[in-house]
Amino acid sequence: MATMTSPISISLQNEKNPWIAAAARFDEAALRLKLDEGICKVLRAPNKEITVNIPVQLDDGRIEVFTGYRVQHSLARGPGKGGIRFAPDVTLDEVRALASWMTWKCAVVNIPFGGAKGGVICDPHLLSDMELEKLTRRYTAEIIDFLGPERDVPAPDVNTNEQVMAWIMDTYSMHARHTTTAVVTGKPASLGGSRGRPEATGRGCMIVTLQALKRMGLAPSDCRVVIQGFGNVGGMAARLMAAMGFKIVCIIEYDGAVYNPRGLDIAALQKHRKETGSVAGFGGGEAIDKTEAMFLECDVLLPGATENVITSLNADRIRCKILCEGANGPTTPLADEVLFDKKVFVIPDILANAGGVTVSYFEWVQDRQGFFWNEQLVNTRLEEIMVESFDAVVEFAEKHQVNNRTAAYMLALDRVAAAIKLRGIYA
Ligand code: GLU
Repeated sequence: MATMTSPISISLQNEKNPWIAAAARFDEAALRLKLDEGICKVLRAPNKEITVNIPVQLDDGRIEVFTGYRVQHSLARGPGKGGIRFAPDVTLDEVRALASWMTWKCAVVNIPFGGAKGGVICDPHLLSDMELEKLTRRYTAEIIDFLGPERDVPAPDVNTNEQVMAWIMDTYSMHARHTTTAVVTGKPASLGGSRGRPEATGRGCMIVTLQALKRMGLAPSDCRVVIQGFGNVGGMAARLMAAMGFKIVCIIEYDGAVYNPRGLDIAALQKHRKETGSVAGFGGGEAIDKTEAMFLECDVLLPGATENVITSLNADRIRCKILCEGANGPTTPLADEVLFDKKVFVIPDILANAGGVTVSYFEWVQDRQGFFWNEQLVNTRLEEIMVESFDAVVEFAEKHQVNNRTAAYMLALDRVAAAIKLRGIYA
């Protein structure tokens, strides 16, 4: 790995490797902050990487072995925090990057967690509920020594949900010999989950977008929004933003895109998707090419699905005023430069999608207190944190003449570095 005197360089060959992208952004922020070289070394590599091979007996009696990871990037500011994803293309480099992004994200919104992430290489759509439960429980058992409310607290991510969190909580609790709700967040409300957690990431995206609009003197009703993804992030953001008066002109999913320049009826589209399993064939809009849909002229583009959707190969075709990164890592570092030149107002992922982990923090607090808040209190506190963090990032960017992403990284690195300095290096 490069030292701080030779920051990592990004090329067309490696721009889509999330860990290289994370390292490049780290280097840039560290150099600008003139961060101590030793602290850089500590923060550049994850603190702990666990790889497990998980045997599962499938419904037909065969035994299959799945590979899973849990990476704890930094525990300097508190227990590890971050989701677990189930997907066929999970890699260790991806999980490393996602873990480091959790460290920066928790620091940007100033909640007392470090950063961690988990992933299992599997296609959950090809597994039965029983197989998924067995996989989840055995993965949990394999990494159990590293989990705990004071150690590392998982949450949902791509292809995992409340049910998966309930299984993790139960498995951990069976080993601990007592119910330990605070070991995961994003649980069902009936099992210690927080009100408002399912909507939190989408709500956070909406709050920061509203802040960006204010700075530009725009009203939600003036804004055409294109959203990629219609799941927990994109779907929730669409619903909440439509209710706030935004015109959601296009929803892009993996199996098609629907467009309506007057604004889509999001509730009707959600109903259609529930009934047919797809956004395709929706009568309230026209079908358009899902790749081209990203390049529609709009005010807000909200990628809310996967990594690497805006790259050096297509960034020059993006035509939005505001890019709100609901997904983790949707923009590559090479694309950043293009967007900056085009004067797109980027709300970087570690700020834009931090609403999810912020309400996870509220959930962890409520579980530990055994005292639960109503939804209004959750939403008010979420708004306070998102607005404060947005203002801090944008003011930092203006003061130091850097883009919003670099500002967010600098703010985060500074906070994590301060914690390491105060704690000192244990020998
Ligand atoms: N998976 C979400 C994220 O990437 C939430 C993590 C959490 O709540 O711990 O931010």
